[in-house]
Amino acid sequence: MERPSVESIFSQSLEALQDQFERWGESRWRAGQLMDWIYRKFAGSFDECSNLSKTLRAKLKENYSFYCAPLVTVTGQEHETRKFLWKLEGGDLIESVLIPAGHEDSDRQTLCVSTQVGCPCGCKFCASGRSGFVRNLTVAEIVGQFLGAERWYRRQTGVKEERLLSNIVVMGMGEPLANYENLMAALSVINAPWGGNLGARKITISTSGLAPQIRRLAGEEPQYRLAISLHAATDSIRNQIMPVNHRYPLKELLAACEAYQRAKGRMISFEYILIDRLNDTPEQCDLLAGIARRFHAHVNLIPFNDVDGCDFRRPPQTVIQGFFNHLQQRGVSVTLRQKKGGDINAACGQLRLRKMEKN
Ligand code: SF4
Repeated sequence: MERPSVESIFSQSLEALQDQFERWGESRWRAGQLMDWIYRKFAGSFDECSNLSKTLRAKLKENYSFYCAPLVTVTGQEHETRKFLWKLEGGDLIESVLIPAGHEDSDRQTLCVSTQVGCPCGCKFCASGRSGFVRNLTVAEIVGQFLGAERWYRRQTGVKEERLLSNIVVMGMGEPLANYENLMAALSVINAPWGGNLGARKITISTSGLAPQIRRLAGEEPQYRLAISLHAATDSIRNQIMPVNHRYPLKELLAACEAYQRAKGRMISFEYILIDRLNDTPEQCDLLAGIARRFHAHVNLIPFNDVDGCDFRRPPQTVIQGFFNHLQQRGVSVTLRQKKGGDINAACGQLRLRKMEKN
């Protein structure tokens, strides 16, 4: 496989390639043909782009890399959540998670992508937070997860035309808004009609609560959805599990969310990991209901999945159900992710952590 010694073709916009082609004396529309090979036919090399001349392919090979991180492992079964572990140039490991829709009348497939190797945020319940921060992913490494999943699907099924992914959530390893520029550039490729062609409303960016970057995101043109990893409804509990809350306490975070909502409409949801005897109390539930109602926001409840070496526990099923029922009774739109993901290391960053520990 070609190695990334030069700029990646996956970080290029159509316009930038058209300009380059023109400088080479090639027709600008040929750039569209190349994008078709990459994002419609999911080609694996420049050599597969058979309607481009050999001379043009040679120029492309000289100037751009077609390198995509190879797949190390896939875990999980068909119709269930699957985890992909990718090995980046230099040996770092990252993961993406493929999540099918939870009901049979939908063929929606969501890919959860990573944006950093490790994570600087250090959330206490998270495997990625425990292993520390290594580096930001490049634009091509973020786009590469999308391409890698589509290519894997083709290898598995033999289909040529059909697309696998209908949604992207940027909720994997890393704090997406701490890698802001690369994330925005990657999403613009995934969103572009000439690129991944996924509508902005099919793309959700998750954050642990970087308030200034949320305000910045509010000023971006695409209507991306925003998911806030809230996980507690008071500063005192949030401070215990999310160090970011010391920098941007709830008041500041929620003010930034309001600014986002003013600019984008109802595009916010809240993620809430339920941890036994910490944030699963009736008081937290009431306060969470108040916050959700204030934003007309959906709440996604996720009972804690055990993480190796972490003392937190999943609450008993009666507490989980009671928390869910109470939110519903308060008129909150809420879903409960019931399935335990322990069999495929479904907690964020856990697959990578286990692989690193084995090596
Ligand atoms: S939960 Fe997200 S933001 Fe927090 S440490 Fe893990 S990857 Fe980072």
